[in-house]
Amino acid sequence: MKKTSHTLPNDKISVSVSKVIHRLSAGGHRAYLVGGGVRDILLDRDPKDFDVATDAHPEQIKNLFRNSREVGRRFRIVHIRFGREIIEVSTFRKQPSDSATKTSGPVMDDNAYGSFEEDVMRRDFTINALYYDLINDEIIDLVDGMSDLENNAIRIIGDPLKRFREDPVRMLRAIRFKAKLDFNLDENISSEIHRSGQLLEQIPAARLFEETLKLFMSGHAAKSFQALLQHGLFQRLFPRVETHFPNYASNQHLIELALQSTDRRIKAELPVTIAFVLAAFLWGEFLNKKNQLQSNGMASADAIAQAGMNTVTEQQFSTSIPKRFSIPMREIWSLQFRLTVRRGKKAEKILAHRRFRAAYDFLILREESGEKLDNLGQWWTQYQDADEQQREVLRSTIGGKRITKKRRVKPTNN
Ligand code: ATP
Ligand code: MG
Repeated sequence: MKKTSHTLPNDKISVSVSKVIHRLSAGGHRAYLVGGGVRDILLDRDPKDFDVATDAHPEQIKNLFRNSREVGRRFRIVHIRFGREIIEVSTFRKQPSDSATKTSGPVMDDNAYGSFEEDVMRRDFTINALYYDLINDEIIDLVDGMSDLENNAIRIIGDPLKRFREDPVRMLRAIRFKAKLDFNLDENISSEIHRSGQLLEQIPAARLFEETLKLFMSGHAAKSFQALLQHGLFQRLFPRVETHFPNYASNQHLIELALQSTDRRIKAELPVTIAFVLAAFLWGEFLNKKNQLQSNGMASADAIAQAGMNTVTEQQFSTSIPKRFSIPMREIWSLQFRLTVRRGKKAEKILAHRRFRAAYDFLILREESGEKLDNLGQWWTQYQDADEQQREVLRSTIGGKRITKKRRVKPTNN
Protein backbone atom coordinates (compact mmCIF):
# COMPACT_ATOMS: atom_id res chain seq x y z
CA MET A 1 0.00 0.00 0.00
CA LYS A 2 1.39 3.36 -1.04
CA LYS A 3 1.81 5.71 1.86
CA THR A 4 3.01 9.25 1.59
CA SER A 5 5.19 11.25 3.88
CA HIS A 6 2.37 13.76 4.20
CA THR A 7 0.40 14.19 7.38
CA LEU A 8 -2.56 16.35 8.28
CA PRO A 9 -2.46 19.22 10.76
CA ASN A 10 -4.28 17.55 13.64
CA ASP A 11 -5.88 20.69 14.99
CA LYS A 12 -7.99 20.95 11.82
CA ILE A 13 -9.59 17.57 12.35
CA SER A 14 -12.67 17.60 14.49
CA VAL A 15 -12.37 15.79 17.85
CA SER A 16 -15.45 13.81 16.92
CA VAL A 17 -13.65 12.31 13.94
CA SER A 18 -10.81 11.36 16.19
CA LYS A 19 -13.22 9.70 18.66
CA VAL A 20 -14.92 7.73 15.89
CA ILE A 21 -11.67 6.50 14.40
CA HIS A 22 -10.14 5.58 17.74
CA ARG A 23 -13.19 3.64 18.86
CA LEU A 24 -13.49 1.74 15.56
CA SER A 25 -9.83 0.96 15.77
CA ALA A 26 -10.10 -0.22 19.37
CA GLY A 27 -12.94 -2.47 18.17
CA GLY A 28 -10.51 -4.16 15.80
CA HIS A 29 -11.47 -2.29 12.64
CA ARG A 30 -9.62 -0.17 10.14
CA ALA A 31 -10.93 3.38 9.78
CA TYR A 32 -9.75 6.39 7.84
CA LEU A 33 -10.74 9.98 7.27
CA VAL A 34 -11.42 10.37 3.56
CA GLY A 35 -12.91 12.67 0.92
CA GLY A 36 -13.53 16.39 1.30
CA GLY A 37 -12.19 16.44 4.86
CA VAL A 38 -8.70 15.34 3.81
CA ARG A 39 -8.75 17.31 0.54
CA ASP A 40 -9.85 20.58 2.08
CA ILE A 41 -7.45 20.44 5.02
CA LEU A 42 -4.54 19.80 2.63
CA LEU A 43 -5.67 22.87 0.68
CA ASP A 44 -5.80 24.86 3.89
CA ARG A 45 -9.56 25.23 3.76
CA ASP A 46 -12.18 24.46 6.37
CA PRO A 47 -13.91 21.18 5.49
CA LYS A 48 -17.69 21.29 5.24
CA ASP A 49 -18.05 17.90 6.86
CA PHE A 50 -16.06 14.77 7.64
CA ASP A 51 -16.42 11.34 6.08
CA VAL A 52 -14.96 8.20 7.58
CA ALA A 53 -14.42 4.95 5.67
CA THR A 54 -14.09 1.67 7.54
CA ASP A 55 -14.12 -2.10 7.10
CA ALA A 56 -16.75 -2.37 9.85
CA HIS A 57 -20.26 -3.17 8.59
CA PRO A 58 -23.22 -0.94 9.52
CA GLU A 59 -24.37 -3.29 12.32
CA GLN A 60 -20.88 -3.34 13.81
CA ILE A 61 -20.66 0.44 13.64
CA LYS A 62 -24.05 0.84 15.29
CA ASN A 63 -23.01 -1.52 18.07
CA LEU A 64 -20.02 0.65 18.86
CA PHE A 65 -21.88 3.99 18.85
CA ARG A 66 -25.10 4.60 20.70
CA ASN A 67 -25.35 8.04 19.06
CA SER A 68 -25.59 6.49 15.60
CA ARG A 69 -28.31 6.05 13.04
CA GLU A 70 -28.38 4.26 9.75
CA VAL A 71 -29.36 6.42 6.82
CA GLY A 72 -29.94 4.67 3.56
CA ARG A 73 -30.74 6.68 0.59
CA ARG A 74 -28.56 5.21 -2.09
CA PHE A 75 -26.17 3.34 0.16
CA ARG A 76 -26.25 2.17 3.74
CA ILE A 77 -24.35 4.80 5.65
CA VAL A 78 -24.16 5.35 9.39
CA HIS A 79 -24.42 8.85 10.83
CA ILE A 80 -22.80 9.38 14.20
CA ARG A 81 -23.98 12.49 15.95
CA PHE A 82 -21.99 14.68 18.32
CA GLY A 83 -24.18 17.63 19.23
CA ARG A 84 -24.75 19.48 16.00
CA GLU A 85 -21.96 17.69 14.19
CA ILE A 86 -22.57 14.54 12.19
CA ILE A 87 -19.79 12.20 11.10
CA GLU A 88 -20.69 10.09 8.10
CA VAL A 89 -19.27 6.57 8.30
CA SER A 90 -19.41 4.28 5.30
CA THR A 91 -18.24 0.73 4.90
CA PHE A 92 -15.59 -0.01 2.26
CA ARG A 93 -17.43 -0.99 -0.88
CA LYS A 94 -16.59 -1.79 -4.43
CA GLN A 95 -17.60 -0.35 -7.72
CA PRO A 96 -20.71 -1.89 -9.25
CA SER A 97 -19.86 -4.49 -11.83
CA ASP A 98 -19.78 -3.66 -15.53
CA SER A 99 -22.76 -5.84 -16.33
CA ALA A 100 -24.90 -4.14 -13.69
CA THR A 101 -24.17 -0.78 -15.30
CA LYS A 102 -24.81 -1.94 -18.83
CA THR A 103 -28.17 -3.49 -18.18
CA SER A 104 -29.66 -1.01 -15.76
CA GLY A 105 -28.04 2.33 -16.43
CA PRO A 106 -27.11 4.33 -13.34
CA VAL A 107 -26.60 2.14 -10.34
CA MET A 108 -28.87 2.94 -7.45
CA ASP A 109 -28.04 0.09 -5.18
CA ASP A 110 -24.37 -0.78 -4.99
CA ASN A 111 -24.07 -1.92 -1.45
CA ALA A 112 -21.60 -4.63 -2.31
CA TYR A 113 -18.95 -4.33 0.36
CA GLY A 114 -15.36 -4.42 -0.77
CA SER A 115 -11.73 -4.20 0.20
CA PHE A 116 -9.85 -1.02 1.02
CA GLU A 117 -8.39 -0.99 -2.51
CA GLU A 118 -11.84 -1.36 -4.02
CA ASP A 119 -13.13 1.48 -1.88
CA VAL A 120 -10.39 3.72 -3.28
CA MET A 121 -11.26 2.83 -6.86
CA ARG A 122 -15.00 3.46 -6.52
CA ARG A 123 -14.40 7.11 -5.57
CA ASP A 124 -14.90 9.77 -8.23
CA PHE A 125 -11.77 11.94 -8.42
CA THR A 126 -8.23 11.36 -7.28
CA ILE A 127 -8.30 14.41 -4.99
CA ASN A 128 -11.28 12.80 -3.23
CA ALA A 129 -9.55 9.47 -2.76
CA LEU A 130 -6.91 10.39 -0.20
CA TYR A 131 -7.21 8.45 3.05
CA TYR A 132 -5.81 9.73 6.29
CA ASP A 133 -4.71 7.14 8.82
CA LEU A 134 -5.11 9.07 12.05
CA ILE A 135 -3.59 6.40 14.27
CA ASN A 136 -0.29 6.32 12.35
CA ASP A 137 -0.54 9.90 11.15
CA GLU A 138 -0.04 9.20 7.46
CA ILE A 139 -1.87 9.68 4.21
CA ILE A 140 -2.53 6.72 1.95
CA ASP A 141 -2.60 7.66 -1.70
CA LEU A 142 -3.16 4.89 -4.26
CA VAL A 143 -4.17 7.17 -7.13
CA ASP A 144 -1.60 9.98 -7.17
CA GLY A 145 -4.12 12.31 -5.64
CA MET A 146 -1.40 14.25 -3.81
CA SER A 147 0.28 15.39 -6.99
CA ASP A 148 -3.07 16.28 -8.59
CA LEU A 149 -3.85 18.33 -5.52
CA GLU A 150 -0.56 20.14 -5.91
CA ASN A 151 -1.22 20.72 -9.61
CA ASN A 152 -4.80 21.94 -9.16
CA ALA A 153 -6.00 19.07 -11.30
CA ILE A 154 -9.33 17.29 -11.25
CA ARG A 155 -8.66 13.82 -12.59
CA ILE A 156 -11.19 11.01 -12.67
CA ILE A 157 -10.41 7.53 -11.39
CA GLY A 158 -10.81 5.14 -14.31
CA ASP A 159 -12.49 5.68 -17.65
CA PRO A 160 -14.59 8.88 -17.78
CA LEU A 161 -17.39 7.46 -19.92
CA LYS A 162 -17.72 4.39 -17.71
CA ARG A 163 -17.67 6.43 -14.51
CA PHE A 164 -20.18 8.99 -15.85
CA ARG A 165 -22.49 6.22 -17.02
CA GLU A 166 -22.38 4.63 -13.58
CA ASP A 167 -23.36 7.92 -12.04
CA PRO A 168 -23.94 10.96 -14.28
CA VAL A 169 -24.02 13.28 -11.25
CA ARG A 170 -20.23 12.93 -11.22
CA MET A 171 -20.23 15.39 -14.15
CA LEU A 172 -21.86 17.99 -11.93
CA ARG A 173 -19.50 17.13 -9.11
CA ALA A 174 -16.53 17.73 -11.42
CA ILE A 175 -17.89 21.19 -12.23
CA ARG A 176 -18.60 21.87 -8.58
CA PHE A 177 -15.05 21.05 -7.47
CA LYS A 178 -13.62 23.09 -10.34
CA ALA A 179 -15.66 26.10 -9.19
CA LYS A 180 -15.12 25.57 -5.49
CA LEU A 181 -11.38 24.90 -5.61
CA ASP A 182 -10.46 26.89 -8.73
CA PHE A 183 -9.02 23.70 -10.24
CA ASN A 184 -8.77 22.59 -13.85
CA LEU A 185 -10.69 19.70 -15.34
CA ASP A 186 -8.61 17.04 -16.98
CA GLU A 187 -9.08 17.12 -20.77
CA ASN A 188 -10.69 13.68 -20.85
CA ILE A 189 -13.27 14.82 -18.31
CA SER A 190 -14.30 17.96 -20.17
CA SER A 191 -14.53 16.24 -23.53
CA GLU A 192 -16.60 13.42 -22.05
CA ILE A 193 -18.92 15.93 -20.37
CA HIS A 194 -19.54 17.55 -23.74
CA ARG A 195 -20.47 14.19 -25.20
CA SER A 196 -22.42 12.77 -22.27
CA GLY A 197 -24.31 15.68 -20.70
CA GLN A 198 -27.63 14.16 -21.71
CA LEU A 199 -27.02 11.28 -19.26
CA LEU A 200 -28.21 13.65 -16.56
CA GLU A 201 -31.76 13.21 -17.85
CA GLN A 202 -31.82 9.83 -16.09
CA ILE A 203 -31.25 11.38 -12.68
CA PRO A 204 -34.26 11.90 -10.42
CA ALA A 205 -35.26 15.55 -10.13
CA ALA A 206 -34.86 15.46 -6.36
CA ARG A 207 -31.18 14.47 -6.58
CA LEU A 208 -30.53 17.19 -9.14
CA PHE A 209 -32.08 19.70 -6.78
CA GLU A 210 -29.68 18.55 -4.04
CA GLU A 211 -26.76 19.14 -6.40
CA THR A 212 -28.20 22.52 -7.39
CA LEU A 213 -28.12 23.53 -3.74
CA LYS A 214 -24.47 22.50 -3.44
CA LEU A 215 -23.54 24.35 -6.63
CA PHE A 216 -25.24 27.62 -5.76
CA MET A 217 -25.48 27.78 -1.97
CA SER A 218 -21.85 27.15 -0.99
CA GLY A 219 -20.19 30.47 -1.71
CA HIS A 220 -19.04 29.78 -5.27
CA ALA A 221 -22.31 30.25 -7.16
CA ALA A 222 -21.00 32.69 -9.78
CA LYS A 223 -18.12 30.37 -10.66
CA SER A 224 -20.39 27.33 -10.75
CA PHE A 225 -22.66 29.13 -13.22
CA GLN A 226 -19.75 30.07 -15.51
CA ALA A 227 -18.35 26.56 -15.43
CA LEU A 228 -21.74 24.94 -16.07
CA LEU A 229 -22.31 27.22 -19.07
CA GLN A 230 -18.83 26.61 -20.36
CA HIS A 231 -19.26 22.84 -20.24
CA GLY A 232 -22.81 22.81 -21.56
CA LEU A 233 -24.34 21.45 -18.37
CA PHE A 234 -26.41 24.43 -17.26
CA GLN A 235 -29.12 23.50 -19.76
CA ARG A 236 -29.27 20.04 -18.20
CA LEU A 237 -30.41 21.57 -14.93
CA PHE A 238 -32.37 24.52 -16.34
CA PRO A 239 -33.32 23.67 -19.92
CA ARG A 240 -35.22 26.87 -20.79
CA VAL A 241 -32.99 29.56 -19.33
CA GLU A 242 -30.34 29.97 -22.03
CA THR A 243 -32.96 30.11 -24.81
CA HIS A 244 -33.80 33.63 -23.57
CA PHE A 245 -30.27 35.00 -23.50
CA PRO A 246 -30.11 36.07 -27.18
CA ASN A 247 -33.22 38.25 -27.18
CA TYR A 248 -33.10 39.38 -23.59
CA ALA A 249 -29.53 40.41 -22.92
CA SER A 250 -29.96 41.68 -19.35
CA ASN A 251 -31.22 38.23 -18.29
CA GLN A 252 -27.79 36.62 -18.08
CA HIS A 253 -26.46 39.70 -16.36
CA LEU A 254 -29.28 39.59 -13.82
CA ILE A 255 -28.41 35.96 -13.03
CA GLU A 256 -24.74 36.80 -12.59
CA LEU A 257 -25.56 39.68 -10.25
CA ALA A 258 -27.90 37.49 -8.20
CA LEU A 259 -25.20 34.84 -7.86
CA GLN A 260 -22.50 37.36 -6.95
CA SER A 261 -24.77 38.80 -4.32
CA THR A 262 -25.47 35.32 -2.93
CA ASP A 263 -21.72 34.61 -2.73
CA ARG A 264 -21.10 37.92 -0.95
CA ARG A 265 -23.88 37.27 1.54
CA ILE A 266 -22.53 33.80 2.36
CA LYS A 267 -19.11 35.28 2.95
CA ALA A 268 -20.65 37.88 5.27
CA GLU A 269 -22.66 35.11 6.97
CA LEU A 270 -25.97 36.71 5.99
CA PRO A 271 -29.00 34.54 5.30
CA VAL A 272 -29.43 33.29 1.73
CA THR A 273 -32.07 31.25 -0.05
CA ILE A 274 -32.09 29.26 -3.25
CA ALA A 275 -35.53 30.81 -3.92
CA PHE A 276 -33.84 34.09 -4.84
CA VAL A 277 -31.38 32.37 -7.18
CA LEU A 278 -34.13 30.33 -8.82
CA ALA A 279 -36.22 33.49 -9.24
CA ALA A 280 -33.30 35.01 -11.17
CA PHE A 281 -32.65 31.89 -13.27
CA LEU A 282 -36.27 31.57 -14.35
CA TRP A 283 -37.20 35.28 -14.60
CA GLY A 284 -36.81 35.33 -18.39
CA GLU A 285 -38.91 32.20 -18.82
CA PHE A 286 -41.55 33.56 -16.44
CA LEU A 287 -41.78 36.86 -18.37
CA ASN A 288 -41.98 35.01 -21.64
CA LYS A 289 -44.88 32.91 -20.41
CA LYS A 290 -46.64 35.89 -18.85
CA ASN A 291 -46.42 37.92 -22.06
CA GLN A 292 -47.69 35.02 -24.09
CA LEU A 293 -50.69 34.55 -21.82
CA GLN A 294 -51.44 38.25 -21.99
CA SER A 295 -51.21 38.38 -25.75
CA ASN A 296 -53.75 35.57 -25.75
CA GLY A 297 -56.09 37.89 -23.89
CA MET A 298 -55.52 36.99 -20.26
CA ALA A 299 -55.68 39.83 -17.72
CA SER A 300 -52.35 40.89 -16.26
CA ALA A 301 -52.91 39.67 -12.68
CA ASP A 302 -54.07 36.26 -13.87
CA ALA A 303 -51.21 35.98 -16.34
CA ILE A 304 -48.68 36.71 -13.58
CA ALA A 305 -50.13 34.00 -11.33
CA GLN A 306 -50.52 31.48 -14.13
CA ALA A 307 -47.07 32.08 -15.63
CA GLY A 308 -45.55 31.68 -12.16
CA MET A 309 -47.18 28.32 -11.66
CA ASN A 310 -46.41 27.08 -15.17
CA THR A 311 -42.76 28.09 -14.94
CA VAL A 312 -42.30 26.17 -11.70
CA THR A 313 -44.21 23.11 -12.94
CA GLU A 314 -42.13 22.95 -16.10
CA GLN A 315 -38.83 23.34 -14.23
CA GLN A 316 -39.74 20.46 -11.94
CA PHE A 317 -39.21 17.98 -14.75
CA SER A 318 -35.51 18.78 -14.36
CA THR A 319 -34.94 19.75 -10.75
CA SER A 320 -37.58 19.45 -8.11
CA ILE A 321 -38.36 22.65 -6.18
CA PRO A 322 -39.83 22.12 -2.73
CA LYS A 323 -42.83 24.32 -1.95
CA ARG A 324 -40.92 26.26 0.68
CA PHE A 325 -38.84 27.65 -2.18
CA SER A 326 -41.33 27.78 -5.06
CA ILE A 327 -43.81 29.87 -3.10
CA PRO A 328 -41.32 32.65 -2.24
CA MET A 329 -40.03 32.54 -5.83
CA ARG A 330 -43.47 33.26 -7.21
CA GLU A 331 -43.97 35.97 -4.61
CA ILE A 332 -40.74 37.66 -5.67
CA TRP A 333 -41.98 37.64 -9.26
CA SER A 334 -45.47 38.91 -8.60
CA LEU A 335 -44.21 41.64 -6.28
CA GLN A 336 -42.13 43.02 -9.16
CA PHE A 337 -45.41 44.25 -10.66
CA ARG A 338 -46.96 45.35 -7.40
CA LEU A 339 -43.89 47.44 -6.63
CA THR A 340 -44.85 49.79 -9.46
CA VAL A 341 -48.24 50.59 -7.86
CA ARG A 342 -47.45 52.89 -4.98
CA ARG A 343 -50.24 55.41 -4.49
CA GLY A 344 -52.37 55.75 -1.37
CA LYS A 345 -52.16 52.82 1.04
CA LYS A 346 -50.59 50.51 -1.54
CA ALA A 347 -46.98 51.37 -0.77
CA GLU A 348 -47.42 50.71 2.95
CA LYS A 349 -49.08 47.38 2.25
CA ILE A 350 -46.27 46.21 0.00
CA LEU A 351 -43.68 47.36 2.50
CA ALA A 352 -45.31 45.16 5.12
CA HIS A 353 -45.27 42.11 2.82
CA ARG A 354 -43.09 39.35 4.26
CA ARG A 355 -41.32 39.03 0.91
CA PHE A 356 -40.79 42.76 0.41
CA ARG A 357 -37.08 42.71 1.15
CA ALA A 358 -36.30 39.93 -1.32
CA ALA A 359 -38.51 41.52 -3.98
CA TYR A 360 -36.83 44.89 -3.45
CA ASP A 361 -33.36 43.32 -3.72
CA PHE A 362 -34.50 41.62 -6.93
CA LEU A 363 -35.77 44.92 -8.32
CA ILE A 364 -32.43 46.59 -7.61
CA LEU A 365 -30.60 43.79 -9.44
CA ARG A 366 -32.93 44.15 -12.43
CA GLU A 367 -32.04 47.82 -12.67
CA GLU A 368 -28.35 47.09 -12.18
CA SER A 369 -28.51 44.55 -14.97
CA GLY A 370 -29.68 47.25 -17.35
CA GLU A 371 -33.46 47.17 -17.24
CA LYS A 372 -34.91 50.68 -17.47
CA LEU A 373 -37.50 50.97 -14.73
CA ASP A 374 -37.77 54.73 -14.25
CA ASN A 375 -35.71 54.68 -11.04
CA LEU A 376 -38.27 52.55 -9.26
CA GLY A 377 -35.57 50.98 -7.12
CA GLN A 378 -34.33 54.35 -5.98
CA TRP A 379 -37.87 55.39 -5.07
CA TRP A 380 -38.21 52.34 -2.81
CA THR A 381 -34.80 52.95 -1.30
CA GLN A 382 -35.85 56.47 -0.35
CA TYR A 383 -39.26 55.34 0.79
CA GLN A 384 -37.89 52.82 3.26
CA ASP A 385 -35.60 55.39 4.84
CA ALA A 386 -38.23 58.12 4.96
CA ASP A 387 -40.31 59.21 7.96
CA GLU A 388 -44.10 59.42 7.79
CA GLN A 389 -44.17 62.93 6.39
CA GLN A 390 -41.57 62.28 3.73
CA ARG A 391 -43.43 59.12 2.73
CA GLU A 392 -46.57 61.18 2.18
CA VAL A 393 -44.63 63.45 -0.16
CA LEU A 394 -43.05 60.53 -2.00
CA ARG A 395 -46.43 58.88 -2.54
CA SER A 396 -48.02 62.04 -3.85
CA THR A 397 -45.29 62.70 -6.37
CA ILE A 398 -45.31 59.40 -8.22
CA GLY A 399 -45.25 60.05 -11.92
CA GLY A 400 -45.21 63.83 -11.29
CA LYS A 401 -42.25 66.09 -11.73
CA ARG A 402 -41.92 67.26 -8.12
CA ILE A 403 -39.24 64.84 -6.97
CA THR A 404 -37.00 65.29 -9.94
CA LYS A 405 -37.42 69.10 -10.03
CA LYS A 406 -36.58 69.47 -6.36
CA ARG A 407 -33.48 67.38 -6.65
CA ARG A 408 -32.34 69.03 -9.79
CA VAL A 409 -32.56 72.50 -8.26
CA LYS A 410 -30.58 71.78 -5.12
CA PRO A 411 -27.17 70.76 -6.49
CA THR A 412 -27.03 73.69 -8.92
CA ASN A 413 -27.73 76.09 -6.02
CA ASN A 414 -24.41 75.79 -4.27
P1 ATP B 1 -17.92 18.37 -0.01
O1 ATP B 1 -18.37 17.67 1.24
O2 ATP B 1 -17.02 19.50 0.19
O3 ATP B 1 -19.06 18.67 -0.92
P2 ATP B 1 -16.80 15.80 -0.62
O4 ATP B 1 -15.69 15.41 -1.56
O5 ATP B 1 -16.60 15.48 0.81
O6 ATP B 1 -17.04 17.34 -0.85
P3 ATP B 1 -19.20 14.27 -0.41
O7 ATP B 1 -20.43 14.35 -1.27
O8 ATP B 1 -19.29 14.65 1.01
O9 ATP B 1 -18.10 15.14 -1.16
O10 ATP B 1 -18.67 12.77 -0.56
C1 ATP B 1 -17.58 12.28 0.23
C2 ATP B 1 -16.67 11.41 -0.64
O11 ATP B 1 -17.42 10.30 -1.16
C3 ATP B 1 -16.11 12.11 -1.87
O12 ATP B 1 -14.95 12.82 -1.55
C4 ATP B 1 -15.86 10.94 -2.79
O13 ATP B 1 -14.67 10.28 -2.45
C5 ATP B 1 -17.01 10.02 -2.49
N1 ATP B 1 -18.16 10.25 -3.39
C6 ATP B 1 -19.22 11.05 -3.14
N2 ATP B 1 -20.09 11.04 -4.16
C7 ATP B 1 -19.56 10.21 -5.08
C8 ATP B 1 -19.99 9.75 -6.37
N3 ATP B 1 -21.13 10.18 -6.89
N4 ATP B 1 -19.18 8.89 -7.03
C9 ATP B 1 -18.03 8.45 -6.48
N5 ATP B 1 -17.59 8.84 -5.29
C10 ATP B 1 -18.33 9.70 -4.59
MG1 MG C 1 -17.97 15.71 2.40
